[in-house]
Amino acid sequence: MQCVGCNEHELIEVSAEHRLRVAGFAFIAQMPMRRCPRCGLKHLEDAELEKFEHGVARALALSAHINHEALQFMREAIGASRVQLAHELNTTDDGIAGWESGQPIPEPMLHGITRLVLHKTDRPSVPQVKMRPLAKTRDSADRWKCA
Ligand SMILES: [Zn+2]
Repeated sequence: MQCVGCNEHELIEVSAEHRLRVAGFAFIAQMPMRRCPRCGLKHLEDAELEKFEHGVARALALSAHINHEALQFMREAIGASRVQLAHELNTTDDGIAGWESGQPIPEPMLHGITRLVLHKTDRPSVPQVKMRPLAKTRDSADRWKCA
């Protein structure tokens, strides 16, 4: 593995904070990464990113904040297509598409989605992810860009 910033080959293993903004919240977890000693760029491997996203999906599922953006994120994090999710929830992919574009999600479906996401992300390798509301001001929101 080499640095995508400067092509340095000797990267150092570190534990560093990874952040992501989804659905009006910031999600933060300590993740194993490789840091470039030359340019300082931190690299998060795809497998680690997948674990982080499972942790984010889990935090969203456990929260009472499942909106259209959260639904789409969770679906993609668990690797399900709309058709697959519709099948799991005994509904239609048009229904899923509607909820992902902002139509209200019926309560029983919210429960079904929560159960499914918690089941699919129930692994010891999934990190604890902290979730906190984003400040509304543009200035502070911009500081939360994904590293
Ligand atoms: Zn570098």
